Amino acid sequence: MPRTKFTVTVTFLALMVASTISQPVEAASLQSCVAGLKSRIIKAGVPRTVVDKALSDVKFDEKVVRFSRSQPEFRLKIWDYMAFLVDKERLEDGAAKLKQHDKLLRAVEKKYGVDRHILVGLWGVETDFGSQRGDFFIPHGLANVICAGRRARFFSNELLQTLKLVAAGDVKMEDLYGSWAGAFGQNQFLASTYQRNAVDFDGDGRRDLVHSVPDAMASAANFLRKAGWSPGSSWGFEVVLPKRYRGPSGRKRRASLSSWAKRGLKRADGGKLQGKAKAGLLLPAGKNGPAFLVYKSFDALFTYNAAESYALAIGHLADRLKGGKPFVTPYPTDDLGLSRAQRTELQRLLLKAGYDIGKADGKIGPITVKAIKDAQKKAGMKPNGRPSMKIYKALGGE
Ligand code: CA
Repeated sequence: MPRTKFTVTVTFLALMVASTISQPVEAASLQSCVAGLKSRIIKAGVPRTVVDKALSDVKFDEKVVRFSRSQPEFRLKIWDYMAFLVDKERLEDGAAKLKQHDKLLRAVEKKYGVDRHILVGLWGVETDFGSQRGDFFIPHGLANVICAGRRARFFSNELLQTLKLVAAGDVKMEDLYGSWAGAFGQNQFLASTYQRNAVDFDGDGRRDLVHSVPDAMASAANFLRKAGWSPGSSWGFEVVLPKRYRGPSGRKRRASLSSWAKRGLKRADGGKLQGKAKAGLLLPAGKNGPAFLVYKSFDALFTYNAAESYALAIGHLADRLKGGKPFVTPYPTDDLGLSRAQRTELQRLLLKAGYDIGKADGKIGPITVKAIKDAQKKAGMKPNGRPSMKIYKALGGE
């Protein structure tokens, strides 16, 4: 069973919209819950000094509990997701990282057999190349989730493993900032994933996925390799379906490339579709959108964070970093998604139009959504609050 991360990555939190407000846990019951956690963790072998430091003064965190409850229902259009994650800015930053860490990335690629562009793509999607670490102090965040009764056993183990990492000297307490669900570091590993997969690639004796880029890249490669990445393989490629395609689809329904060719599929890049290699047909936007044949290595990306759109974003980012082109088949929508720069620009346009939404920081929260809805209404559009191309253009965006 893959360990999902309960997250759409920290960079992606900017896309999250508040939905439900949870009832605060009674302060007294939170304190007694935390006291119980502390004694169990000490019993499991973590020094009392570490536990006391990590879990002193835990306060109720409404945001953590809200995120932990609202996440599963969180659904986003694939074209919004991709426009945000594979934008010009991330491609430029990714190209710079490839250059900056060329020697390291090639060494990691050689040792683990995972394409360095994939590693950079993953890094970019997870933390915007280490620039977004997440705001939650993990011991407190996990304590809140556990005491709110959300998958308490799973998260209790994450808390224990996190503090074991501190006790072992791999991570410093002050570096334990990340997602509400306990993922942290350059590539947002959960502590249990960290314990199983992290490697000390720079040879300083610590597995430091927070500050060491070599450790972080090698650990991600080690994870993907163990999760089934085939050395030298790619994640997959875009295909074009024949008109009125009625055949099978699905990541796991793999068939040989030649058998897909017999069903009328063609490679989008014009290359020949042939051979015994097995791939599944992925249709993230349905039969009328871009289609992809994905190999087993795609599943390794999926294991990293259980979402097909996530795996596709990394694969596509990697291809683009290699000089590949945008998808050939357009998304089946007349209202495309926005890049991060366009999201910020949309906020500037809303401010200009008189909406008091605070700072234009690209983070689309409830206040921006409310302003978008109102602006959509005024423009005669359906007021869905979605930051999209149509409202962007209606407000004068280019
Ligand atoms: Ca190290």
